[in-house]
Amino acid sequence: MSKFSKVVLKKGKEESVLRFHPWVFSGAIDRIEGSVEEGDVVIIHASDDRFLGIGHSAIGSIAVRIFSFENRTPDLDFWIGKFQSAYNLRHKIGLTLRSNTNVFRLVHGEGDGMPGLIVDFYNGTAVLQAHSVGMWLIREMLAEAMKVVLGDRLVAIYDKSSKTLPFKASIEPVDGYLFGGQITREVLEDGNRFLVDWEEGQKTGFFVDQRENRRLLSDYSFGKNVLNMFCYTGGFSFSAMRGGANLVHSVDSSVKAIELTNQNVELNFPGDKRHEAFAVEAFDFMKDIKDKYDLIILDPPAFAKHKNVLNQALQGYKKLNSRAFQQIRPGGILFTFSCSQVVTRTNFREAVFSAAAISKRNIRILHQLSQPADHPINIYHPEGEYLKGLVLYVE
Ligand code: SAH
Repeated sequence: MSKFSKVVLKKGKEESVLRFHPWVFSGAIDRIEGSVEEGDVVIIHASDDRFLGIGHSAIGSIAVRIFSFENRTPDLDFWIGKFQSAYNLRHKIGLTLRSNTNVFRLVHGEGDGMPGLIVDFYNGTAVLQAHSVGMWLIREMLAEAMKVVLGDRLVAIYDKSSKTLPFKASIEPVDGYLFGGQITREVLEDGNRFLVDWEEGQKTGFFVDQRENRRLLSDYSFGKNVLNMFCYTGGFSFSAMRGGANLVHSVDSSVKAIELTNQNVELNFPGDKRHEAFAVEAFDFMKDIKDKYDLIILDPPAFAKHKNVLNQALQGYKKLNSRAFQQIRPGGILFTFSCSQVVTRTNFREAVFSAAAISKRNIRILHQLSQPADHPINIYHPEGEYLKGLVLYVE
C-alpha cells in the first residue's frame, strides 16, 4: 500500500469520512505526503494518522472520491468484488433474469461504492462512463473485472467517457470498445423494443432511470390523449401506447431524438396512427395546447448542473409546469420530473407548487416518484438522490 501517496486531513475533518461519506473536499486537506497527479490512488488519514479510506484524487472542490473504507489494495480482485456486489443487487431485485427487460444500470457511482463510475448494461453490451480521471485510468482493469463477473452475458464493453470526464484534466480520451464490438443495438424494456445509440446518443444512450415511472404511466394511459414532452427515444410514449392511449404526441427539440422515437414506434407499433412526433422546442409547442391533452409528461434535461444556477433552474421548472397546469384538460394527470442533482426534492416541490398556484386549479398529489432500484442511493451519500417526480391530478 505504501506506493500510494498519503492525504492527511485537518483536525476534525475526519468526521464525515468516519460516517462513510465518500467525498473529501479540498478544504478538508491539511497536507499531502508524496506527489499526486489527478486520478492517482491516494490513502486518506486523519490528523492523528488513523487510516480512513482509499480513493481517487481529483482537481476541484471534491479532491478525493473514496472507493474503500477498508485498507485494501485496489487490484483486479478488489474491483471484481465491487462489480460482484453491484451485480448481486441487480440480481436480487430481479433485473438480470427477466425475459422482457435486458437493459439496466449495473453501476451507479456512489450508490454502488464506485464514485465516478456509471455502467449501463444493454442486452450484452456494457456502456461505461467515467466521471473521474481515476476511474478512466483503470478502465482496462474495470473491463477485466466486468468480464469475470458477467461471464457469457457480456459481449462488449464500450467506453463513452470523453464527454463526462472533467474538462480540466490533461488527458485526451477517445470513445471506443474496450472489449468486443457492436453486435446489436436493440434492447427490451418491459417488452418494448428500443434501438439504442450508445456511440452518438445522449448519456449512455438511453434513460434507464425512468423504467419504473414508465410502467406507472402505462396504468394511467387508457383512453387518454397523451403529450410526452422531452421524449428523447420515446420511452414514455410506448408505455402510453401499451396502456391503451387514444393518441400520443412525442415532442423533443432534437431532430435526432424525433428520428429515434419514430424508428422505435415502427419497431413496436408499426403503422400505428395514434402516434405523432414533433421536433419542436418545448415552450413553442406548449404555447397553445389548451384542453388538448389529458395526460402530460414533462421530463426535461437537468436545468441546473451547478449550485450557482439553482434559482434560474427553479424558475425554469415553475414556468414549464405552469404552462401544463394552465392548459391540461379538467381531470388531467401530470407526470413531472427533475433530474438535476442540485435541485432537492423540496426545491422541486416548491417550484411545482408555485406553478400550481398560478393556475389557481385544484391539484392533488397522487404519487411521489424517484429513481429506480438499479440506481440505488448510498445511505451515507444523500446527494445520490437525483431523480424526483410528482404525479398530479389537475381538476
Ligand atoms: N423522457 C426521456 C428523457 C428526456 S432527456 C426518456 O424517457 O428517455 C431530455 C430531452 O429533452 C432530450 O432528448 C433533449 O433533446 C430534450 N430537450 C432539451 N431541451 C429542450 C427544449 N427546450 N425543448 C424540447 N426538448 C428539449
